[in-house]
Formats: sequence, structure tokens, C-alpha cells
Amino acid sequence: MDELPGGIRRVTMPLPTRPGHVHCYLLPVEDGFVLVDTGLGIPDAGERWAAELDVLPAPVSTIFLTHFHPDHLGATQDVRELTAARVVQGSVDAGQAVLVWGSDGWSEVLAGWFHLNGVPEAVTDELIGQGALYRPFIRMVPDPEPVEGGAFLDGWELVAAPGHADGQLTLLRDGILIAADHLLQPISPSVGLWPESRPDPLGDYLDALRRTIDLAPHAAYGGHGEPMADPVGRAQELIEHHAERLRQTAAALGPEPRTGFEVSFPLFGESLQPAARRFAVAETLSHLARLVVEGRAHRHETTLDGDIVGVSYTAAQ
Ligand SMILES: [Zn+2]
Repeated sequence: MDELPGGIRRVTMPLPTRPGHVHCYLLPVEDGFVLVDTGLGIPDAGERWAAELDVLPAPVSTIFLTHFHPDHLGATQDVRELTAARVVQGSVDAGQAVLVWGSDGWSEVLAGWFHLNGVPEAVTDELIGQGALYRPFIRMVPDPEPVEGGAFLDGWELVAAPGHADGQLTLLRDGILIAADHLLQPISPSVGLWPESRPDPLGDYLDALRRTIDLAPHAAYGGHGEPMADPVGRAQELIEHHAERLRQTAAALGPEPRTGFEVSFPLFGESLQPAARRFAVAETLSHLARLVVEGRAHRHETTLDGDIVGVSYTAAQ
């Protein structure tokens, strides 16, 4: 457990895949601590949390979940059993969690969606297999208390930060931003287009980065990587990073239709492991969707007997 300014404590939990760790934060409040995120539900998550909670001077009164990705909420059941704390989660995000993790049907949805975007069958099978690896490490609670962006939780303002996840909420108080995966250093947070997600996640993300600049926090703590002493500068860097990536994406398009899968190769390289290709395709698609909104690309649907069987993109003239 690391001590940060303002009495905030940071607990870092291991991840079996990159980036190898996730940060959870303990925020001191009137009746104890708000725990922000619980880490992946690895087999010994309960023992690890028991050891951390043992040295905490006050109980955890609330567990707050920033977004539904496995590395952020996987051990929620374990921590609730240890603390009996209430669990609070954004209502949009809680809906996504149930959609994606609540049944086995999601793999089928994802497979169909990769297929539409040009991913060959054999590669799709590998991509889906990668996603299924996480399932045993997700132990959610069925009944989180819903909250909305703009609300306050024990004096912390919940600030919506869509992009990395549609319903992601960050926490802001006295210029300190608990940033979840909205701002990270040195990693660039992944912003993908996924099935059933909002239509222009990169547009949402760029708006959220501009809001961060307006809010002007003086420190930010992310879900991975290093603390940020200049969150405004980091937000500006990420805006520029995506402007450059949008230029590269536009340059990869021409008059011949290309699928998201095809465009992911010039952007992210030829040799990627399945897990990385999965994110590369989703990230390529978020940039293509943004280019369509900006009038810099066209989107085409191929239909067969009235069903959409393929989606491709061309450069705008
Ligand atoms: Zn994360």
C-alpha cells in the first residue's frame, strides 16, 4: 500500500496480462474509506485484500467501480465479503457489465461483429478465445447502487469520462482526479468501437479530454502506470496522439473499400498476438467511425437478402 497526498492510499494488484498491474485507490471519507476499483478476481484476490484491509486504520464503507473491465471490478465479490461495504457503480456502466459478463451470449455477438468487420473466421475464433480467458476472474455483485455523472459520492464529484468505456466515471475533489483509465501515463488508453457501444467513442473521448482540460486538475491517478503531475498536459498529448492516428487512418483509405481488419495492419503492424489484434481492430474502427462523422471517410454496408454481411470504408473524395 502506497501513501499519496491527501491521505489517499494506493493498492496495486497483479494482472496476468499486460500491463501486469492495476491500481486501486482508497479515499478517506467521514465514515472510513471509499475503495475505487477492486482489481481482477485472481484466485488469491481475497487473501491479498484481507492483508491490505488489515493495515487500514478505518473500514471500507463504499466500493466504487469506475468501469466494467475485468481488471477493475473482477474482485468485487471478494472485497464485499470482507467489508460488507455498499457497492456503487454508474448506471450506464452497470448495464454494460450485465450485457457483456452476465451471460455467455456475448461471445456470439462479438464473433458476428468481428466477422462483419472483415476478420477471418480462424482469427475470430482466436480473438474470442482470448476474451473468454477473463471470465473465471470476474466476480461481480448482482445489485450495485446506480449513480450518474455529476453526482457526489462522499464529497467526491463523479465526472463522466466516456471513451475507454461508455459509462466510465472518474472522481474529482480539491484538484485531484482519480482518473480510472481515462488518463494514463505512459500508456495511451484504448478507445475501441465495440458492438452495442455508443456510435462514436473516439468523439466522446476527445470531448471528455477537453472537459478534463477545463476542469484543470493538478494531479491525476490512473488505473495503470504512473501518477500524473500535469493532467492537463497529458490530456493535450492524448488529443494530439489521436489527431495523428486519425491522419494515419485517413491515409490508409483509398477508393477501394477496406475493412476495419484490413486497415488495422498499416496502423498497428503485421505481427500482433490475438489479444492485441482484438484491440487493434476495435481501435481502428473507433478512428474510422470518427472519420465518417468528420466527413473524412465513407462507410459502406454489404447486404445479402436484406442482412448486413460486411462493413467497409473508403476515403472521402
Ligand atoms: Zn484498466
